[in-house]
Amino acid sequence: MLTQEEDVQIRQQFDDLLNNCVRCNQPEDKAFIIKAFQIAHDAHKEMRRRSGEPYIIHPLAVATIVNHEIGLGAKSIICALLHDVVEDTDFTLEQVEQHFGTKTATIVDGLTKIGEVFDNNSTLQAENFRKMLLTLSDDIRVILIKLADRLHNMRTLGSLSPEKRKKISSETIYLYAPLAHRMGLYSIKTELEDLSFKHLYPNEFEEIVKRVNADERKRVLFINKFSLPIIDKVSDQNINYEITGRPKSYYSIWNKMQTKNISFDEIYDLFAIRIVFDNDPTIPEKTTCWNIYSIVTDIYMPRPDRLRDWVSTPKANGYEALHLTVMGPEGKWVEVQIRSRRMDEIAERGLAAHWKYKGNNPQETELDKWLRRIREMLSDPTSNAIEFLDDFKLNLFSSEIVVFTPKGDVKILPRESTVLDFAYEIHTHIGNKSIGAKVNYKLVPLNYKLSSGDQVEIITSDKSRITREWLDFVITAKAKNIIKNALKAETKNRTEKGKVLLEEKLKELGLHPNSRIFRKLIPSYEVATKDELYSKVGSGLINLDDLKKILKKNTRSKLIRYWELTFGITSETEEDKNDPTKNYDKNSPFLLRESSDADESTSYVIAKCCNPIPGDDVIGYKAINESIIIHKSKCPNAVRLVAGQSERVIPTKWSTHKVLSFLVKLSLRGIDHFGIFNEITTVITKEFKINMRTLNLSTHDGIFEGLVEVYVHNSNDLNKMIANLLRIKGVEFVNRVESSEE
Ligand code: MN
Repeated sequence: MLTQEEDVQIRQQFDDLLNNCVRCNQPEDKAFIIKAFQIAHDAHKEMRRRSGEPYIIHPLAVATIVNHEIGLGAKSIICALLHDVVEDTDFTLEQVEQHFGTKTATIVDGLTKIGEVFDNNSTLQAENFRKMLLTLSDDIRVILIKLADRLHNMRTLGSLSPEKRKKISSETIYLYAPLAHRMGLYSIKTELEDLSFKHLYPNEFEEIVKRVNADERKRVLFINKFSLPIIDKVSDQNINYEITGRPKSYYSIWNKMQTKNISFDEIYDLFAIRIVFDNDPTIPEKTTCWNIYSIVTDIYMPRPDRLRDWVSTPKANGYEALHLTVMGPEGKWVEVQIRSRRMDEIAERGLAAHWKYKGNNPQETELDKWLRRIREMLSDPTSNAIEFLDDFKLNLFSSEIVVFTPKGDVKILPRESTVLDFAYEIHTHIGNKSIGAKVNYKLVPLNYKLSSGDQVEIITSDKSRITREWLDFVITAKAKNIIKNALKAETKNRTEKGKVLLEEKLKELGLHPNSRIFRKLIPSYEVATKDELYSKVGSGLINLDDLKKILKKNTRSKLIRYWELTFGITSETEEDKNDPTKNYDKNSPFLLRESSDADESTSYVIAKCCNPIPGDDVIGYKAINESIIIHKSKCPNAVRLVAGQSERVIPTKWSTHKVLSFLVKLSLRGIDHFGIFNEITTVITKEFKINMRTLNLSTHDGIFEGLVEVYVHNSNDLNKMIANLLRIKGVEFVNRVESSEE
């Protein structure tokens, strides 16, 4: 039972909440809030918190934070008041729905589930986090109320055991503070960090508090000295403003000392001067920002590398301001933040202020974009949950990087973005044709990871082609989607191109494609379908030089064989009895003598599609003309043959002679520098004593690419040589060209 004193205190707090409910616009809003309070009060009446306080103090405080500090309206206040009843009391979700409707019940349910997920310490953080985010798709208020809940718990952490305090504080700094930051709730983020810091490292915390307080008087004097000349000039311009100096948060001071490994005294930006102006509606905010910038820099010398213009390009969490660092009195660098009143409110209160100002501004803000992206990702049924989480975490925990185009335009990308992500961010066409970039005037490959402040100039070439490996190093969803779609389209294109090519060739011969012609072509070119034939023609894997010959040939007997193989139609003929495949002993593998004329009884042909060399795993395929075609085992054609015509597939091994050389084609790509060609040829010809047939490298804008044809004995030698080529500085890619495709 409550004491009378407690009862009075609770009543007072509730009246305070009710009377200051700024966004209770509907007449019934207050009635519902009173009802929610009564239900919560009643449901929790026997309960007390660890501190001994009546439990209702907690939901009441959360509702107050939700209203006053985050700025949410009546529905959120109701949900905050009810946020623990379903979990901790006999009051059910159905009852919430009866009294307050479906929406409120959904939010309360979301809050209950988040609670379960977070308070169960046996599950993985990441998984919890995913679940928490999934509730985002229902209503973002779930997250905001949960943040208020956590804030109040952090404020009242004192009565828990030190272990419990540490656990909750770690969780807060790992998950909730970044989340608050992402939502643009700057003051809540700062408070969560400082409170966590206090409980995690009590001694360090006390030390920094002491140092900051000791400097207080000095700081005030310095701020006055710094501000005075600015105050005069700004007042002359008829700008209504406020100038304050406030110290950095304790946590950010400590964090800076840790990450930069510096002492308290070495932190030059212990505080920032903030100039907040009331916007004159006839003048754009941006103009006034730069106007004040100009006044400040007339007085103090700016540091050019520290200018941050988040007015032209707001941060993804909606933050807008102009930051600059100037040389102040006593030779001290001072950070100055210039903001309009609106920007200031958004900076401090994030989302809520954002909604307040959105009415005047129909344009989509950065925060809207972010929320939209999350919703899109969540609603995409094809997106993989893990992939989604990775992508989200990337976007959440590491703030984005800001990079520049050659003209100085700003692009915001998630951290870890590569040159290729940037290229696609600029334009699909630029991405498709990119081959490398100059980052701060230095040449880098496409997979180079960008950092904030980089200036990036993409180098394109009409020869550049999208490859599957690009997917390994792009991280933005935009780039990934474009590449995936392009790869799909490319396959389709190849088929279409092949179709046109074949039709043209046939036309030259005075023929039209018809089923009779395909019945000849399909077995002759050893493809399974018409589409495969088109695709191979389109990519150059099949050249049609011998088309006329094939069509002229009497292929009747071969055709019969083909139909037999394909459909199992058998016709016992004299020829079949002599078919070597039937008599072939499958237990002893066919030995390749590394020369097609070494064994006179059977000749073999190296397949053009995969070009195997000694050492590669291979299979033999008994072709219609009796010769054995050697494919690499992993060649897609070989796989198809094994699956479909296994009776013609012959186990095959290389004999160990190491006499002959095989021609292998390598494609090379990298960053050009003086002497690199020489290094490449040295590795090939001197170190490996390998015979080079052709070397065809070309450079453009500092990136070289090209083909080398070399004679090697076996795949072992080849692999060693590739490894050594990759060791050359500047060489980025060395690939064995498996097919005759150019
Ligand atoms: Mn709670």
